[in-house]
Amino acid sequence: MQLTKIFGEGETRVTALDSIDVRFTRGTFTAIMGPSGSGKSTLMHCLAGLDRITSGRVFLAGREVSNLPDAQLTTLRRDNVGFIFQSFNLLPMLTAEENILLPLDLAGRKPDKELWNQLITGLGIGDRLKHHPSELSGGQQQRVACARAMITKPHVVFADEPTGALDSKSGANLLGYLRHCVDDLGQTIIMVTHDAKAASYADRALMLLDGRIVDDIDSPTAESVNEAMARLED
Ligand code: ADP
Ligand code: MG
Repeated sequence: MQLTKIFGEGETRVTALDSIDVRFTRGTFTAIMGPSGSGKSTLMHCLAGLDRITSGRVFLAGREVSNLPDAQLTTLRRDNVGFIFQSFNLLPMLTAEENILLPLDLAGRKPDKELWNQLITGLGIGDRLKHHPSELSGGQQQRVACARAMITKPHVVFADEPTGALDSKSGANLLGYLRHCVDDLGQTIIMVTHDAKAASYADRALMLLDGRIVDDIDSPTAESVNEAMARLED
C-alpha cells in the first residue's frame, strides 16, 4: 500500500514506483504491463520481498513483509512464493528433477505425490527428468522452471517475462499451462509481460507508466491491451 521505491540519490535519483496501491485476489491471474523502465520488474521484486521498499507497506500471505528482518523474509519467500524468470534460471549441474525438487529440499519438505504427478504430466516433462538443462530446449527448460515454481504450492507465483525467450508455440503452451494452474489448482499468478497476446491469458492487466498504475483492465483481450498501450503513448 502506498508503495514507493526510489533508487539512488541526488542527480541519479529515480522514483521507480510512485505511491502504488494494489491488491491481488487469490486464485487469479494478473498481467503487469507497461513500457520499458515503467517499473514492472521493480514492482514484482517489491511485492515478492526480493527488494526493499522506500516507503509504504507490502503484505504477502497475510504477513507484512516490508518490515520483516532478512532471515524471516527469506523463509516467508521460500514457503510462499514461486518464481519464473525469462532466462529460466535452472541450476546447470542439477537434473530437471533435482531442479524441480530443490525448493522443497531447501525447506526440508517432501513433494506432494499427487501435485508432482499433475505437474509432470500436465507439463509433459516426464521423459526429461534425468536430463540436465543444457540438454533441454528453451520451452522444456521453462516448463521445468514452471514445475519448480509450483511444487511448493506457493501463495503466489511471480513470472517476469516468462515467454520472453520462447518461440510463439512454446510461449502459448506455457501460458495455457499457467491459465490451467489458476483455473484448476487455484494458483495465484502475477506475470510481467510486454506482450498483449500473453496478457490476454490473464484475468486482469495493470498498466504501469513512470512508476504509477494508469490503467486496470478486467478480462483483457489482445485488442483492449493494445488500445491501452497506444493510449500510454499519447
Ligand atoms: P521495467 O521492468 O518496467 O522495464 P524496472 O522496474 O526495471 O522497469 O525499472 C524502473 C526504473 O527504475 C527505471 O528507470 C530503471 O532504470 C530504474 N532501476 C531499476 N533497477 C534499478 C537499480 N537497481 N538501480 C537504479 N535504478 C534502477
Ligand atoms: Mg523489467
